[in-house]
Amino acid sequence: MIVYGWNSKELKQAPFPGHICPACGAENSFIVVDASYFHVFWIPIFPYNKKLRIVCGDCGHTMKPKEVSQEVRQFAKQLKSKVKIPVWMFSGVGVVTLLIVYGIISSFLNGQKELEMLNDPQVNDIYFFYDSEEPTEYKYYLRKVVAVRGASIDVSPYSFSYNMEPEELEMEDGFFHSLLWG
Ligand SMILES: [Zn+2]
Repeated sequence: MIVYGWNSKELKQAPFPGHICPACGAENSFIVVDASYFHVFWIPIFPYNKKLRIVCGDCGHTMKPKEVSQEVRQFAKQLKSKVKIPVWMFSGVGVVTLLIVYGIISSFLNGQKELEMLNDPQVNDIYFFYDSEEPTEYKYYLRKVVAVRGASIDVSPYSFSYNMEPEELEMEDGFFHSLLWG
């Protein structure tokens, strides 16, 4: 089960003198700026927007900006525009960005490794081929380097073909027997 949804966090509170609470008549109101953000397992993924509310410090009566005078709304909007969304609300975006960067770097390093293997073949390197001429679906096969002689290499043929790129080799895949038994 994945727990996700919207959360809200208070960013800033500023007193707003001159505003009379319509519920209790007190002149002790605050303007509060909240930010709502999307979370997955309570980890903030990305912020959505900033919201305003006017709260009475005496009775707690809360009003939305549209319920108050133009003057209050103006003041509240200015406050809202000055408040910055905290960076931690972008945690999810940060994690995704890191994963993408990690993916790019590791595929680059894999590419480098492949180039190294092709430029400098070593005994026991395993090459992986794709045969588009193969009439069956088993178009993938492997060759293992058994000797390197200058510009040419000897490869050991391999009895199995695959219908997909093998993720890893198993004991039964063959090559490992020749390693074990010489
Ligand atoms: Zn009040």
